[in-house]
Order: sequence, then structure tokens, then C-alpha cells
Amino acid sequence: MRITGDWLRAKGLQAILAALGDAGYRAFLVGGCVRNALLDHPISDVDIATDATPATVTELMATAGMKVVPTGVDHGTVTVVSEGEGYEITTFRKDVSTDGRRATVAYTSDIAEDAARRDFTMNALYADAEGNVIDPLGGLADLSARLVRFVGDPDARIREDYLRILRFFRFHAWFGDPDRGMDVDALAACAEHARHVARLSRERIGHEMRRLLDAPDPGPAMAAMQATGVLSHVLAGADSAALGPLLHLEGAVPPYWLRRLAAIGGESPEKALRLTNAEARHLRLLCDGLREGEPLPVLAYRHGAHMARDVALLRPALIGGALPDGWIAEIEKGATARFPVRAADLMPSYEGPALGTRLAELERRWIASGFELSREQLLA
Ligand code: ATP
Ligand code: MG
Repeated sequence: MRITGDWLRAKGLQAILAALGDAGYRAFLVGGCVRNALLDHPISDVDIATDATPATVTELMATAGMKVVPTGVDHGTVTVVSEGEGYEITTFRKDVSTDGRRATVAYTSDIAEDAARRDFTMNALYADAEGNVIDPLGGLADLSARLVRFVGDPDARIREDYLRILRFFRFHAWFGDPDRGMDVDALAACAEHARHVARLSRERIGHEMRRLLDAPDPGPAMAAMQATGVLSHVLAGADSAALGPLLHLEGAVPPYWLRRLAAIGGESPEKALRLTNAEARHLRLLCDGLREGEPLPVLAYRHGAHMARDVALLRPALIGGALPDGWIAEIEKGATARFPVRAADLMPSYEGPALGTRLAELERRWIASGFELSREQLLA
């Protein structure tokens, strides 16, 4: 099996692999980049694994004229900037001890040991500089079956690191076969340890949930998350039932995690998932739009086409209905409408606070007319 791609041929990457190889070390691409290349998914970050220690990597890269940043030396990672691109280079590691959050690691020169400490078989795939895939644990077979399978015993692997519960659902959402169902032992282990998710930082939980909900179809993974009791520890009171209908209604509308989050509800998502102020505000607007039943053109006029579109999709999703006829045109109309009256049109008859009140009143009339009243009609 071989992978290809412009990212793999990139001069900067090949220079790193050559510098390590020429010095007698082994260096492989690993994890998401290999997995995604095999699936023809976009590559986000390129990770390199090597049997050279971080000190050796630092020295070799500096000698080759690259910039080295010690981003995670305590767990064996340095970031190297080569031809303007950053690459994380991590020394082969094996776990010595774990406490459910942090692992104490030791370096190893054995790729099989490095593979054994990774989370899922599809994430334990390596490739050399020519793209030849190395598969120490049978990840290729699982990848082509689209089965997210823990490396080793799911229960033991989850006890080592509870974040793996969330990663399991996230990777299933992105790469699992939705019709095939999930690994039963893994689901049982997730259910068994569901409450320990609360030990993770809310930032990490939020980060995972954003990525899960941004998957093309997070429905089956979210349903399983709910069935195993994990979802209630992530976001109390959340219910994934409306996700299926929402995804169906979305059709070709691009995935957007906040729209999906609004569909599952739950208590204080801004705290539970540590939303930024902007995200929390957006979610509030979506929920207000749902509750207050404002017409779509008005929502689009006040908050833009995307907000109105998301509310339009969420409304029928939550009650099991259909999208109203002409909804796209309605949103377009509101989003492009421009209030024709300016403050200057009302002065000097109106000034100060009275001016603001009068403008708002005219704008309400204009909106109520379906954005039809002209400037002259409004001022008359
Ligand atoms: P993506 O970048 O698309 O999220 P990825 O597989 O590259 O996917 P990363 O979080 O970038 O995921 O991690 C890189 C690799 O490190 C993974 O493929 C996996 O082999 C390993 N890894 C990451 N997090 C864990 C973990 N919590 N437990 C075990 N291995 C992990
Ligand atoms: Mg990655």
C-alpha cells in the first residue's frame, strides 16, 4: 500500500526525512496524515515519528538549517519549521505509567511499541518518505472496513486516558461506517467509564465536541454517545434526537457545529464546552430565533443570511417538520434589504434620543411592510 500527495512530496518535509535518514535514523509520517491520505481526506497537520531522541532531532535539524521549536520536549516532541511549514517530530515512545490524564513516557527505538501506545488502529499507520505504508497493528484492514478499533483492550486504554472516550466517538463520526455499528466492547468500556469524562478539562471536551459536531454526519456517533451515558457527562440534558432530522434537512448546506449544538440543547453549553464569547452569542441568537418565531426575512435582515438559514433548518428539525416553500428566497430578501431612511432625513425635526426612537419606529414599519415601503412613503 502506498500513499501520495503534494504534501508528501513537499521539499520541506522531504528535507526533514532525508536529514534523519542520512544520519542513520528511521523517520516516518504517522497518524492522521497517513490515515487521511489513504481515505483521500484533506491533510491538516503532518506528524513525524522517529527513533532519534529530541536532542538528536534538534541537533540534526539545526545543522540542516531549519528552525527548531521545543513545543513539547517533555513528551518527546519538537516542532521543526522547514520551507515555511511546521512539522511535529516525536520520538518513538512507550507508556510507562498513566493516570487517566497524563502519561509518563519513555523513548524506544521499536516502532511496534510506539504503535501500541496510540489510540486506534487506524491512527497507528506509518509511511516512509516514498509513501510506503507500514502497518504494525492491522490498521489498514480496520480503515478499509471503516471500523474505529482501540489498540489493545478498550477498557484498559480508556482507563489510561479518558479523552479517548471522546476521540472514539469523534473518529467514528468522521471515519466509521454509519451502517455497520460501532465496536461493542469499545461501547461497553465507554459506558463503564462515562462519568470520568467530567475529569477532563472543559476546554478539551469542548475541542472534541466541536470537531465531532463538524463531521459530515455526526448523528450515529452522537446517538451512541447518548446511549452510553457519555453525552450527559459532556453536556447535561442534551438530546441527540433532533440531529437525524437536522442532517436530513441540511442537504448540501455545509456542516456547522454550532447549528448542530443548538439542535441537541443541554444546560449551559457555554460553560460545559467553554465556548468563546462570540460562539456563545451566536448560539444564543440561534436559540432566540427558535423560541421567538421571528419570520425568516426579519432574522436574515437583523442577523444575516447564515443565522437565518440555521434557524430555518433547526425549526422543522426540532418538531419533525419540513422546510417551508421558498425559504431560501425569503432569507435572501431579508439579507439584502437596506433600510432606506437615514438619520439626516429626520433632522432637524428630531434630535437626540427622539431621533433614535423615531428611526426605530420607521424601521419597524418598514420591516412590517415586508421591506416594501419606500423612503418617501416612510417620511410622508
Ligand atoms: P486529527 O489531527 O485529524 O485530529 P490525528 O489522528 O492526527 O487526527 P492528533 O490528535 O493530531 O490526531 O494526534 C496524532 C496521533 O497521535 C494520532 O493519530 C494518534 O496516533 C496519537 N494520539 C493522539 N492523541 C492520543 C491519545 N489520547 N491516546 C493515544 N494516542 C493518541
Ligand atoms: Mg493530527
